[in-house]
Amino acid sequence: MTGGWALRAPCHGRDGFTVTEDDWNTGADLKRLCGPQLPTCGPCPFRAECIATVKPAQAFFDGIAGGRLWCNGIVIDSLDGVHDEELAEPKLRAYCGTEAGAKDHDRHGERRCTACRQAVREMAARRKEAKAKEPGQLQLDFPTT
Ligand code: SF4
Ligand SMILES: [Zn+2]
Repeated sequence: MTGGWALRAPCHGRDGFTVTEDDWNTGADLKRLCGPQLPTCGPCPFRAECIATVKPAQAFFDGIAGGRLWCNGIVIDSLDGVHDEELAEPKLRAYCGTEAGAKDHDRHGERRCTACRQAVREMAARRKEAKAKEPGQLQLDFPTT
C-alpha cells in the first residue's frame, strides 16, 4: 500500500491481508486465510483511498482491500456498512512509449514525456509510409515506347 494515509491505516504493519500464489486455490481458502483480518478495515477511514490505490477489480486482486475480501478482482465478502461509492477505481494509465500514453498525458494536462513523444512521431511516420504504399498511389515506372 502506498501514500501517507497507509501509515495511519489500522492494517499498517499487520500481515494476512494478501496471499502468496502458492498458499491458496479457492475463494474458501482466501476466506480462511484473509477473512479473519477483514474486521480491521471496519474503523478504517481510508477504505476509498485503499481501493483507489489497490484497484482490486482492474488488478484482479486477491486479498483484503477497502473492507472487502477480493478473489480475482471480485468481492467475495465484505464488512457490513461499507458503501458502494468507495468502490470507484481510477482508470489505469496507459503505458508510456505508446500513442495511448501520449493521449493520457494530454487528458491529464501534462507535458508528453520523451518516450510518448517518440511513439507519436514513429506512428505518424509509419502511417505516412503505409499511405504512400496504398494502391492507386503507386507510381509505376513503365518504360515509354
Ligand atoms: S481499508 Fe483495510 S486494507 Fe485498506 S487501508 Fe484500511 S484497514 Fe488497510
Ligand atoms: Zn509518457
